[in-house]
Formats: sequence, structure tokens, C-alpha cells
Amino acid sequence: MIHDYRLAREKMVKNQLIPRGISDEGVLGAMGKIHRHLFVEEALRGEAYNDHPLPIGHKQTISQPYIVALMTEALELKAEEKTLEIGTGSGYQTAILAELSRTVYTVERIGPLLEKAMTLLGQLGYTNIYFKAFDGTLGWQEHAPFDAIIVTAGAPKTPEPLLEQLAEGGRLVIPIGNRYSQDLIRVTRTKNTFKEKNLGGCRFVDLIGEHGWKE
Ligand code: SAH
Repeated sequence: MIHDYRLAREKMVKNQLIPRGISDEGVLGAMGKIHRHLFVEEALRGEAYNDHPLPIGHKQTISQPYIVALMTEALELKAEEKTLEIGTGSGYQTAILAELSRTVYTVERIGPLLEKAMTLLGQLGYTNIYFKAFDGTLGWQEHAPFDAIIVTAGAPKTPEPLLEQLAEGGRLVIPIGNRYSQDLIRVTRTKNTFKEKNLGGCRFVDLIGEHGWKE
């Protein structure tokens, strides 16, 4: 079966993102540009632009397009900024971040997923992404502070190291809740105060680690 992925991408932006309130031109542009079908296995490519998450192996998922857009928009990325991503997974969200920030630091606890994402993103020509196989609930201390931090797995609470590694004026987006459902929370830091905003319900796989869920 032959798929017109360009058309599928246009439809995704037009039918799933814009009607639900995504308006940031940078975010819409990146979502319309990145070849999402390359981030899932061949048998699932025809579904890559559908309005739901898809399995990527190791019991993990690539997030639904709308959720990727919502989280990215909430990060308010600027082209000269430094972003930290926890939960590389397929690397799709990583590519979106790399389009909109100067440098992206991405951390994934499952080695083979990280390797695969690293290979693909290299093939796609990205030179502004740094990868690490590690427990991302500890952040990435050597490169802190970060202007934006995104966590793409659900946590019981915001890991303390991530709050510490957030720059003044920085934004952090993370799903917080129990293991079945979460709320997407945006934390904004001004010097020593952290302001929170709830962006609505969502469902993510577990954030597993020292400051997350136990395995
Ligand atoms: N943004 C990814 C989402 C992947 S699912 C995408 O769209 O493809 C969430 C990912 O978080 C999984 O790959 C999981 O292994 C990873 N993860 C869970 N806990 C983690 C931790 N403590 N540190 C780093 N990665 C973690």
C-alpha cells in the first residue's frame, strides 16, 4: 500500500492540531516537516499520522501528535536556548525540539531505544542533539541549567533534580499523577519561585527511576 505521507502530515496539522488550539507557527511548522513515519516500525507507518500513540517496542510508545504539539508549545522554545528531554523513546519529540532550540540534551533509560533514536536522528542530519543512556530523573547535571525541560513519561511528582537544573525564566513540562492517568503540568521558574499551571489530562508510560516510580 502506498501512502502519501506529506498529505498525511498536512491533514494531521489541519485536523488534529489547529482545531484543538495549537497556534505557535514554529510548532506547527516542525510538526508539518518532521517525517513521523520514520520513527515507527515499517508495519505501523501507515498509522503514523493518526490521532493516537503507537508502540515502539520495550513496552514504550511514541506520543500522540497532539500531545507532542501541546507539550512543545507549552515549552515556549526560543532558537538560542538549551533544552533537556527525559525519555527519548523513538526520538520523534527530540527532532521537534531540535528544530526549535539551539541544543537538545536527551536522556533515555533503555539503551537499545536510545541507540536507535541516535542512529535515525544522525541519518536525518541533526548535529545539535546530545544523547545519554541514564536515569533521567537525575537530570543531566554537567549541562545545567536548561531553559526548557520536557519529561515524556508520567511521574508521581516533579523530580527535585529537574527543578534544580531549570534556569531562571525556564519552563518545565511533565505529566504528574498515578500510574494510569496524569495531568500535564507546566512549571515556570523565576529566581526561587516555581509557578504551576495545569494543561489538562493525559496518559503516559511510567517514568522509572530514583525520583520516579520503582520498576
Ligand atoms: N518522546 C518519546 C516518548 C517515549 S515514551 C516519543 O515520542 O517517542 C517514554 C520514554 O521514557 C520511554 O522510552 C521510557 O523508556 C523513558 N523513560 C522512563 N523513565 C525514564 C528515566 N528515568 N530516564 C530516562 N528515560 C526514561
